[in-house]
Amino acid sequence: ARKTVVVVGGGIGGATAAKYLRMMDPSIDVTLIEANTNYYTCFMSNEVLAGERSMESIRFGYSGLKGHGIHVVQDRATSIDPDKRVVRTQGGQRFAYDRCIVSPGVDFRWDSIEGYDARVAERIPHAWKAGPQTLILRNQLRAMRDGGTVLIAPPANPYRCPPAPYDRVSQIAHYLKRHKPRSKIIILDPKDRFSKFDLFLDGWKRYYGYGTDDSMITWVSGAAGGTIESLDVKAMTIQADIESFKGDVINIIPPQKAGWIAFSAGLTNEQGWCPVDFRTFESTIQRKIHVIGDSSQASPMPKGGYVANTTAKVCAAAIVADFNGGKAPRPSWINSCYSTLAPGDAISAVTIYTYRDGRIVKVEGSGGLTPQEFDAGMRAREAQYAHSWFNNITADVFD
Ligand code: FAD
Repeated sequence: ARKTVVVVGGGIGGATAAKYLRMMDPSIDVTLIEANTNYYTCFMSNEVLAGERSMESIRFGYSGLKGHGIHVVQDRATSIDPDKRVVRTQGGQRFAYDRCIVSPGVDFRWDSIEGYDARVAERIPHAWKAGPQTLILRNQLRAMRDGGTVLIAPPANPYRCPPAPYDRVSQIAHYLKRHKPRSKIIILDPKDRFSKFDLFLDGWKRYYGYGTDDSMITWVSGAAGGTIESLDVKAMTIQADIESFKGDVINIIPPQKAGWIAFSAGLTNEQGWCPVDFRTFESTIQRKIHVIGDSSQASPMPKGGYVANTTAKVCAAAIVADFNGGKAPRPSWINSCYSTLAPGDAISAVTIYTYRDGRIVKVEGSGGLTPQEFDAGMRAREAQYAHSWFNNITADVFD
């Protein structure tokens, strides 16, 4: 009989897995269940905030995947029954599977900041899932007076895309410098360091006066009292560890956990993420269900789109091998991650990972970081690579 795979979530992980399953073995029947008609990439959504890019340019539909013979179902998965091997949807549909792949992205821990919840997020956006949230934040930045203050509150680790809050700070700073140069950005951070730390700080010094009395950007670290406790929407203030801060625009990026369906299907551990066997990304809790993307616990790999994409391919190859009576191939993963300091000045970090003794380890001597020393030509090329990476990965996922 034909083998059937049901994929829950048509974001970066799920769409890649569905497409690669069909490319590796066209005899497999693949159904992709996705709640939305279009997908907006989080990557490059910070450029939308900066006014450098349109919403349309980060919007992707599912016709490419349909062209690969995937049954794309626009509906929300509401349950997965691991014993009967059936996925059910809000629309009352029922899909039986031999294997299920779950890639629902992240959900937010709404109970962690007093005064902040899903309803308040319509006014105080997180913009950590691209789409309407991106537009809310963009419009608020546009409407803000010159001389206003933007408060940005990133979460503690682990969360989706570790350098992205600081890429966002850079992009917004660039926008403000051009259009509202008397404005300020205050980062309220529970951490004392972050991804590409020295490169970001160096860029902020170069472009936004960081470290001077007139800096556009102030970074309040965890040690300096940056951990936030509560939000007062009416007063537009955030109470942090030591003092309170007032903003004209507030962007809170709440702490995160695996997507809701992963909890309801019993795939999560005490940390709120999904443990998996790294050779196959099959759940170590529920058989025949694989979890990929941000919801899976795949440390030391960060939660990122490139990782979701490469993990999806590892997972698809393992399922195809299993269906054909073979063994899962030995996996290897790649992650490269670009951040922008200002248009024409980008930085990157690249790592290659391999599987060893049940763990994911960095390949020694692989990858690297943009050199600290500023080289305008190299930075301009990195900016170009960042855009070509975006074009390549979105084609790899959706075309
Ligand atoms: P997602 O891509 O979020 O996909 C999840 C999908 O599942 C969604 O479409 C959702 O609608 C759907 N879904 C959820 N639950 C259900 C359900 N019950 N039924 C049906 N559908 C459901 N990564 C990089 O590699 N490079 C970058 O430069 C980069 N920049 C970023 C910038 C920002 C501002 C942010 C926030 C993130 C960035 N990322 C980047 C991270 C990247 O976007 C995520 O890691 C990636 O999208 C994870 O893929 P995923 O498949 O796990 O989840």
